[in-house]
Amino acid sequence: MDRLRRPAADRSIDCALRRAEIRGDSNIRSPEARQALERAISRRDGNAEWARQVRELSTSQDFRARDEALQERAADRISAHPDVREVGGAQRELANNQGLSDELRQMRADPAFQGLRPPDRQRAVINDMIRFAETPSFREMERQGRGRQALGIIGNLSLHASSTGNAVERNTVDSLASGRTNMDIVDNQTLFHSPDDLALAHPDSNTLVFNGRRANSQSPRDDLAEIAAHEVNHLRNGPTTAGTAERFLDEYRAYWTGRQARGGSGPSAAAIRGQMENLATDQGRGSPYDGTRDRYRSDPGFRNVVDRLVSDANRNPPVLHDPEEVRQLLAAARPRNPGTAGGYLDRPGNVDNHN
Ligand SMILES: [Zn+2]
Repeated sequence: MDRLRRPAADRSIDCALRRAEIRGDSNIRSPEARQALERAISRRDGNAEWARQVRELSTSQDFRARDEALQERAADRISAHPDVREVGGAQRELANNQGLSDELRQMRADPAFQGLRPPDRQRAVINDMIRFAETPSFREMERQGRGRQALGIIGNLSLHASSTGNAVERNTVDSLASGRTNMDIVDNQTLFHSPDDLALAHPDSNTLVFNGRRANSQSPRDDLAEIAAHEVNHLRNGPTTAGTAERFLDEYRAYWTGRQARGGSGPSAAAIRGQMENLATDQGRGSPYDGTRDRYRSDPGFRNVVDRLVSDANRNPPVLHDPEEVRQLLAAARPRNPGTAGGYLDRPGNVDNHN
């Protein structure tokens, strides 16, 4: 009934929404929508008429008087509007930053990008690239002539995350695009254990460091997704000391998380057996895991846990333990020294790279 009988407040909101030509629905999550709205409001100089309308709408008593759900829906619609994507996405930088414009154009021309459905998955990729372009990490890499390479990596990580809908990947990309995790690209090969390594984590500076000679927009997206999730997982869980059960868990969990990001059903039994060998049972030297291999030989409690993980992986059908189960096994197996503070093994770890 009651278009005619609706109160003036509703009509004025509808009117403002229509005036701004806001169409369609969007699944952009509310914090982002709010952020876009705030940005749109603050960028009065970017697109004056648009911003004025948004500001008028969002600060109006009518709008504020509405229930939260309506405000969220309106903010979603506003953030989905092409003008806001620009205003909200640092329009000035967009206009002046040739590298960003070029990378965005290239992304939009990518068939994998064009195939993303529904359209908000495409928006998520564009938003990630624009958000990332506002981080100090990007500005620093750009200063070093690495801006486009960095954007290419972020764009591809985001494209993979949007294609698979994988939560670990989404969290990983968010972490980088928001600047919560720093990013760098370096050519210094001595930093990497192997010249083939795509990246490593630098916990002291909370930085994911990509190998400048290996990682770029041409890198296989599965590999980029796995390594980024693996290394960000190290950063999310904090540093550990070489040769300890904590370091073993740190690597096991990062490996597990990285495999989740790659897509599919996570690591296979064979992959877990390979990890056990690499991290503990191999007798060889010269590995980054010499310390945990030594511990396997010298610490019976630790050895029992590793042996159990191997024998369970060998069962038919195989039994694989997720990182939290492994943490609990390691915590139960450690020597009970009075005065030894608990800590790393007693706290649930971060297995999906959430913030
Ligand atoms: Zn690792």
